[in-house]
Parts: sequence; C-alpha cells; structure tokens
Amino acid sequence: MIIQALNKRQKERGGYLTDVDLRGIAAELHVPLHRVQALVSFYPHYRTEPPPHVEVQICRDMTCHLRGSVDIIDHLSNWARLHHTNEIHVTGVSCLGRCDRAPAARINEQLYVLRDAGELQSIALGYLSDDIQPANSDWELAEKKIGTWEIEPYNSQVSEPTSSYSSVRDYAAHPEPDRVLKALETAGLLGMGGAGGRAFMKWQDVRQAKGTSKYIVCNGDESEPGTFKDRDLMLAAPHLVVEGMILAALVVGAAQGWIYLRHEYPEQAVALQREIQRAEQLGALGKNIFKSDHSFKLEVFVSPGNYICGEQTALIEAMEDKRAEPRNRPPELMTNGYQNQPTLLNNVETFSWVPAIVSRSSGDWFAKQGRKNVRFVADVSEAIRGMRFFSISGDVNRPGAYEVPSGIPLGELIDDYCGGMLPGKEIVAVALSGPSGGLLPPRIPVKALNRRFVEKHVPADVTEVDVRDIPLDINVARAMDIMIGAGIVIYGTGADVLNEVLACSRFFRNESCGKCVPCRIGSQKITEMGERLAEGEMTAEELPVLQETALQLSQVMMATSICGLGQVASNPMRSLFGFFPSRVQEALATNRKPVLGVPGLREERDA
Ligand code: SF4
Repeated sequence: MIIQALNKRQKERGGYLTDVDLRGIAAELHVPLHRVQALVSFYPHYRTEPPPHVEVQICRDMTCHLRGSVDIIDHLSNWARLHHTNEIHVTGVSCLGRCDRAPAARINEQLYVLRDAGELQSIALGYLSDDIQPANSDWELAEKKIGTWEIEPYNSQVSEPTSSYSSVRDYAAHPEPDRVLKALETAGLLGMGGAGGRAFMKWQDVRQAKGTSKYIVCNGDESEPGTFKDRDLMLAAPHLVVEGMILAALVVGAAQGWIYLRHEYPEQAVALQREIQRAEQLGALGKNIFKSDHSFKLEVFVSPGNYICGEQTALIEAMEDKRAEPRNRPPELMTNGYQNQPTLLNNVETFSWVPAIVSRSSGDWFAKQGRKNVRFVADVSEAIRGMRFFSISGDVNRPGAYEVPSGIPLGELIDDYCGGMLPGKEIVAVALSGPSGGLLPPRIPVKALNRRFVEKHVPADVTEVDVRDIPLDINVARAMDIMIGAGIVIYGTGADVLNEVLACSRFFRNESCGKCVPCRIGSQKITEMGERLAEGEMTAEELPVLQETALQLSQVMMATSICGLGQVASNPMRSLFGFFPSRVQEALATNRKPVLGVPGLREERDA
C-alpha cells in the first residue's frame, strides 16, 4: 500500500514528492514516517525534487552500449548543459528492455528507439516547445507475433485474445491437482526465470505447505540486460500468463495473486489489466471461478524500479512495502513468501507455457519438442525437452524474441531465426546470459569447460568448441559450466571486448543493492580494475597481481554474496582474463602511466 500510494502521489504532483506528501502518506496509512522515507531513498523511481522539463534517459547496457549509447549520452549531456541547463536533463540508465531496437531511450517516460544523437536532440527540443514527436511502441513488434507461436493453444489470429480459459474451465469442473502436476512433470517444464528449477516441484511444495493464506506471484520484472522476450509475450498473449496463474492458484489453493511488472512496460500493464477484466467477465477469474467453489483475485503490481527487484525475494520485499533487498535463504518462498505465507513465484514465460502443456496430451507434446541428436550430447539428448523463448540482439540481421526448441545450437538461432550476422561481421564474442555469464570467445578452449563433461562427451582430439555449436539447453549448458539465460547478445567484428566487459561490470556495480559487503565493495573494486586496464593505467608487471586479486575477490563474492547478483558480478572481468588474453595485452601496450603506489592517483580519479 505504501508503494502504490507513493506512485499515485508522485503522479498527481507531476513527478516528485514533497516532505508533506511523505508525512501525509505515513499518517494516512498509519505507518511510521521512516518507513516511507526508506522507500523513497531506495527506489530511483521516486524523486524529492521537481523533475526537469525534459528528462532524457538513455540505456547504457550491452546492445545499446555496443551501438554507442555512451557517446550519445556524453554528447547530449554536454549539449543540454551548455544550452538548456535546468530544462533538459540527460542521464544514462540501466537496460530498458528494448535491446532489439538499440539504442533505446525514454524521454519524459515515452519510448524512443533506434534514434541517433541528433534525432534524440530534436525530440527533446520538441518536448520543450510542445511539438512532441510520436513515441515508439512495443505493440508494433508484438502484433506480428500473434498466432505464430506454439505456446498459443488457442490459435489466435487476431489482436483481441480469443482464449476461452479451457484449462481453467476443465479444472473447475474436475479439480484434479495431481493431473496438472503430473502434466508439468511429464513436460519437464523448467522455471524460465534463470534458475531453471523444475516447475512441478515448486507447485507441489506450495501446495503441500501449511499457511493461513497462499499467494501466486508472476515475475514480470524482466530487467536483465539483453532480455526482452516476456515483453512480447505479455503483449501478444497476455491471456496465457493470466490462465497459467489462475490454474496455479487452483492447484496450490491460493486466493490472491499479482503480476509484478517493471515500470518501463506501460503497454504491457494495460494489456494485462484488460485481460484480467476479460477473464473476470468470462467467469474465469474472481469469485466462484466457472461456478466452482474456488475464487482468485489477480492484480498488476507496477514495480518502483531497480534491477534487483527481479530477484525473487527482493521482489517480495518490494511487494511488502520494504526496500528491495534480497532475503537470506532458506527459508524459501514456497513456505515463507509474501507475508511469510506459502508463495508460488514463477516468471511470465513459465506460467504462459502451462495452458499449452495441460491442454495438449498432458505434457507429452511439450516433452517431445526438445531438439534431439544434439552435438556433444547426442547419446543423452533424449533428455532435452520442450521449447523456450530467447531474446537475441547485437550484430545479427534480425534481432528479436524467438520461440525455439530447447537444445538448438546457437549457430542455428543466429542463421535460421535471425538471418545471420550483419554484413561484414564475424562473431568476436557472445553473451549467453546477459552480463551474468560474462563473454565467450568464438572458439572456447575445451580446458575451460567442465572436466567431467569433456571426458564424457567431447572427443579427445577436440581442443576447442565453436561457440555456434553450444546447445541452447539449460541443463547441457550447466553441465558444461556455461551460463545460459534468456538474453543473448552477439558482438561482431569491431566490438571492443574490453569496453563491453567493462559495461557489464559497471551494470552490476550500479545495480548492487548494497546489503552485503562483498557485493557492494567487490563490484566496485572489480570495475575499477577493469577501468585502470582500459585507461592505460596498468603495467605488464602489475597484471599478474591484478589477475590474482580479481580471482580471489571473485571467489569471495561468489561464496559470500547473499543473492545471484553478487555471485555473478565478477564473471565479465573473469571472462576477459580467461578468454580474451590478447585484448588484455593490447590494453597493456597502450599503457600511459604506471601508477601503482603513486600517491594522489585515487584523488585525481575521484575528482
Ligand atoms: Fe544486494 Fe549484492 Fe548482496 Fe545481492 S549480493 S543482496 S545485490 S549487495
């Protein structure tokens, strides 16, 4: 209630909150003032001063970074400072989820994509003179996807959803939770939010957990740089996530649920709210679902911001009107989630697969969809099941969100779905899990892969694996010691790997919530190391010390950080040292000033 009240008040006042507002909300909701202040100081969405007339926010991560967004930010900031101080404010922000149309920007909360510095400048000026240029829409892309995906069991061909909520209707008539759980188990549906746990086990755990109430939460806070597939799913098929959540509620016995949505997805919020109303009118949602004894209330919760809100326990903290700082686990959300009650939290794609899985041959259909006879693991590739969505961007011809069979090689995704690499570009690096897994080189030395996997699956005479041959399956990748997420970025000829790695490190440094020291300090230290290297401030003699220190720091961060952010924050720099030694040597060759131990450098840099 506090967060929703703050959102409402900030909107009413025109984009900021005053001390009177905070006191008013505290009094109205009968909470101490410090709780309201704690939220306002934590979430960047809240302001305590009037916003500038024009606010330009430009994404500085991964694909936007590759497209030169940092130069655009510098150029526009200087221009605004010189000519429009107090009127136009330009700032770099974390990923806006439009990597397929980089560079992406928001001007006064409106989306503008694929614009250069000159175009953004003229759009900003338009806001000053009330000559506002039309913004871009996600619907332009999502509309083309309607009816093209296997995830859609209703063969919808029109822009208005035609789903009849048949799986919910069937369940209401014949409530058999074990049948649904068995279908999910047979299908082998994995959580699509990154961790890749088996969906049916989570559902079962919440069903069996004891509590006075149970809750369903859908994680729609898709903020990992390079990832934007849920964005299209929620627009093109909002009925699937709603149906999946209703079914989950019926199975586990939950009476209330929320779709937690990042605030940069306003069109998706409207689509979901409209679909919730449609489901209520159909009788699939609300009191006595399809005349049964079950009731379920579903709402959209718009996030107050920050990447860390996508971490499942941080998200629950935000929903409880607290700072979105991840919790120590255990206990897990399945037993102690929202309001300390059993809570089922899955992401958008996971819930969205449920209607197709349940309605098509009880999971068998999905299980058979995985690519078989996969390179390296042909003998066990029967175990690869299902389909999934990948967001792919960077130096490919057709970046976008694609639904593919699990296990297809990366090269096939690039060639057959994305139309190949951009003309004249060869792969120089690949990020298979946003910034979290670091960057992989075009040919991965076999010695960098998991030893047991190599002994079992890689022929003895093979010394390198082509990155294009990596099977896009979470279990295979995990066995290889490679991270696969939903966001893939392809860096082609001309990309500066050191600079791209640094952008990834800065992202984690910027987004650390600061709760635990190893992550808060470690992400800063590791970024500083990369900056010194990139800025030519390091000698060849220092390099071994730096690498050893980075390795130790990384081990400490992995072992002691509370959440996944701190555990992966050092991966980009580690991948630079491990996979791109020639780029490191190049950086050393440009050494400008050996500075280790030279007093005053830190002060100079800070200044
Ligand atoms: Fe916060 Fe980082 Fe600790 Fe996660 S690891 S809780 S982001 S400080």
